[in-house]
Formats: sequence, structure tokens, C-alpha cells
Amino acid sequence: MSLSLSETKDDICWRFENSYMQLPQSFYAALDPVPVRNPRIAIFNQVLAESLGLNVSELSDTDAAMLFSGNRLPKGAQPIAQAYAGHQFGHFTMLGDGRAILLGEHVTPTGDRFDIQLKGSGQTPFSRRGDGRAALAPMLREYIVSEAMHALNIPTTRSLAVVSTGEPVARETLLPGAILTRIASSHIRVGTFEYVARLSNIDAIRVLADYTIHRHYPNLIHTENRYLEFLNSVIDRQASLIAKWMLAGFIHGVMNTDNMAISGETIDYGPCAFMDNYDIDTVFSSIDYHGRYSFRNQPLAAQWNLARFAETLLPLLHSIPQEAITLAEHAVGTFPDIFQRYWLTGMRKKLGLFNLEDDDVHLIEQLLQWIQKNRKDYTYSFRSLASESLLKDDLFRDCEFAAWHTSWQERLSRQSESKVSAIGLMQANNPAIIPRNHLVEEALTIAPEHSDYSKIHRLIKALSNPYTEMPEYNDYLTPPIPTQQAYQTFCGT
Ligand code: AMP
Ligand code: MG
Repeated sequence: MSLSLSETKDDICWRFENSYMQLPQSFYAALDPVPVRNPRIAIFNQVLAESLGLNVSELSDTDAAMLFSGNRLPKGAQPIAQAYAGHQFGHFTMLGDGRAILLGEHVTPTGDRFDIQLKGSGQTPFSRRGDGRAALAPMLREYIVSEAMHALNIPTTRSLAVVSTGEPVARETLLPGAILTRIASSHIRVGTFEYVARLSNIDAIRVLADYTIHRHYPNLIHTENRYLEFLNSVIDRQASLIAKWMLAGFIHGVMNTDNMAISGETIDYGPCAFMDNYDIDTVFSSIDYHGRYSFRNQPLAAQWNLARFAETLLPLLHSIPQEAITLAEHAVGTFPDIFQRYWLTGMRKKLGLFNLEDDDVHLIEQLLQWIQKNRKDYTYSFRSLASESLLKDDLFRDCEFAAWHTSWQERLSRQSESKVSAIGLMQANNPAIIPRNHLVEEALTIAPEHSDYSKIHRLIKALSNPYTEMPEYNDYLTPPIPTQQAYQTFCGT
């Protein structure tokens, strides 16, 4: 099996540029994906392909499998593994793409630039002791959850395809291998800045900062202290992102600095999961022994990561080190307030509130405390608020809830918008369908063993429209029964 440039039959209108390769050579290693034995398309995202301006209508499954396994390189691709470092659970480590290859940046017909990355594409100089490969079930899981996040309007990398490789990967047992095609507005991470900062070369960090500003924050190019503005903008986007996670009940699970994208997209779906019963101390990841990345700690973890990011920019912020530190500390110190603002704005929408009142925080906290104390399902509780029969639902027959409900109704009546508008606002901000762990697991158990992807297709279809209750997907709406709840996620991907 050999790599070759594509023939016209699988020219699907990629328009590759490779701007990352113009950066210093220490930022990456150029190498091809390692071919796989028997690639087959497991799942392909037609809608995403079309939105990227790709023409896949004539592409056969065999050619698609060759392309999205990396066995055949598309015209214009110049594959690289990117170098980065990261603080993993607080400890600094040199990392890099140990099992991923960036084919290049595809520029869509409307001028948007996206990294096209194959994950699970074989060993690279950054693989350390890893095999460079990925297992099928975790790649399908990343596909499902990332596409669900997109449908929930949460910024995220996306998934274009999963190809099974026909090769086993050795984890605790032998598992079927797979390659995921990941689409990201870039893969530049806090850890990328940490890696370049370790090179102790101010020019290199400036090159990376300028490149990133150009790519993600072009409005800052001509600002006076653009590096400080850059830091502020990254802080703002992260505050907005983490607020969206918290509002949706999403736990990332491994918020190491190498898993925080400068673009503000959610990246690296390892041990992530959505909460069912609301408990702010929830941790899903089997390796998060101390709850560092528990649900409630996510804003704190983000701020900690942003402090590491700010440190890398110090030489660019001010020529006097102490001045630079003061600027950076001030910027990072704004995170909690910005986060709180985004979160409150989102929470008001979830409660159908159009305007602001000082006591809203109290109203929201009271509801959350009631949900937590009674271990109610987070998503179902919020979705039910818009229901006419809320107080008749057994889950809400409770004096404390009735008292809260009265204050909330009074609050709603003090705004000029109608009840119907409030219900519309709630329905547009409280999803009915999320990728609940038991649903994802059920779909994943069947798929790899029997090559039966029908459950996955059905789940993805339902998740693509999370704010609408559709009778045909009623089985996805209800919270899991207790035996479906104990849930742990694993990094062994
Ligand atoms: P993650 O936990 O997925 O964020 O990965 C952390 C680091 O481990 C990154 O540098 C990955 O590229 C690397 N890594 C994870 N799994 C593998 C693997 N199977 N082979 C090689 N490197 C890996
Ligand atoms: Mg990672």
C-alpha cells in the first residue's frame, strides 16, 4: 500500500493551504499518515461536507475510505504533526500530536479556513510511548458528542468522518481501530503557546501570537497593545465557552492546557459527558482522582489555564517584566466577572427572562439548589419549566418547588413580554435532547461489534435538533432510570 496524490475521481474540491508550515520548523514535524490495512467508512457527515464546500456526491465509499483514512492524500495536503506542550492535571509536559496529522487548512468557498486533521493516523515524533492509533468506539463517541455540541450552539471542533481501519488497537483488550477526521478553526492551544514559550525565544512567541491573531482575532491587528487585547479576547471567548458548558450541564473532563483551544472552541472529547442528575461535584473521568475538573471547578480550571497562557505572552505585553505581570494579572483577574455575566445572561434565557432584576441571581440559585438537593435531572428540569403541566408532574410536586414557582411566576409577570414569548425563549435555550451517557453507550455497544450504525444514525439525527421535541424520538427525552446512571468515562481512547 502506498500513498499517492489523488486522481480526479476523488477530487472533492479541497482547497488546501498550509499556512502553519510557514511558521518556524520547530513548531511541527512534517510526515505522512501511516497507512491502514482495510479502511471502511463507518460514518460520514454529509451536511458538514456540504457546508465546507466539498463535493462528495460522486465519491464512492471505497474512495472516501482511502481519503479519510489518510491512505491516499488529497491534492494540496502537506501533512504535519503539530508540536505543543501542556499542563496535565497541573504538571508541565512536552506533548505534540502523538496520534494526529494535520493535512492542511481547507479554505471554503466563502473564505473560512478550517484545519483538517486525521486523529488516530499513526505514530509521530511526538507519540512518546503511544501507538498513534485510536479505537473505534471513542472516535464514534467524539463524533456524536461534538456534533451534538454544535447543534446546541456551543463552539466546538466538528467531525467529518470516522473510518474503521481493519486493524486492532491494544488497549485493556484488543479493540477495532479507527480514524476520525476532525475539523477545527485551528488546533492552536494554550499548550502551543507554552511549547513556544519554552523555546525561550521572544521572536518565536511573537510569530505565533501574530499568526494566531491574524487567524482568529483579525480585528486586533491594528490595535495599540494588540497582545494585551489578544489576551483579553481569548479570556472573553473562554468565559463565554465555559458558561455555555455550565448552562448545558457539560463536563469536559480533562481541561489540561493542551486541551484548551485559543479559538474558543471545545476541543478533545476524551472523558467528557453531560450530567443527568444535577450535582455540582460530578466528576466522570476515571483518572480525575481529586475532582480537579469537576463540574463546579470548570470556571476555576479555565482561569488557571488562562494564567498559564498569559505567562507565555509576558515578554510581549511590556518591556518591563513587572509591568507585564501587572497587566497579565489584571487581565486574568477579570475572568470570574466576565464568566458570571455570560452565565447569568444564559440562565435568564433558560428561565424565560428578557430583562434584568437584581434578585435574579437569587432566583436562579434557589432553583439550582432545589434541583441539586433533590438530585433532579438537570436537562429535564429546565426543559419542563416551559411545560403547561409543570406543577402536575410528579417530579415537581413539592412545597419548596411550589414556593419557588410562585416567585418565578411573579418575576415573569413583571416583564412586558408575553408568557408565550417567555415560553419561546425557554424552549430555545433549554434543550430537550442531549447526548445522555446511557443513549450514547447503547448506540456504541452495538455499532463496532455488528457494524450496525443504525442506532448511531438515529441518535445523531435526534441530536441535530435538540430544542424541538419530536414524537418519534420520545425515548430520548426522559432521564435515565437509576441503573443507567452510574457512569465513568475513560481516557484510554
Ligand atoms: P489527550 O489526553 O487525548 O489530550 O492526549 C494527550 C497527549 O497524548 C497528546 O499529545 C496525544 O497526542 C497523546 N496521545 C494520546 N493517545 C495516544 C496514542 N494512542 N498514541 C500516541 N499518542 C497519544
Ligand atoms: Mg489533547
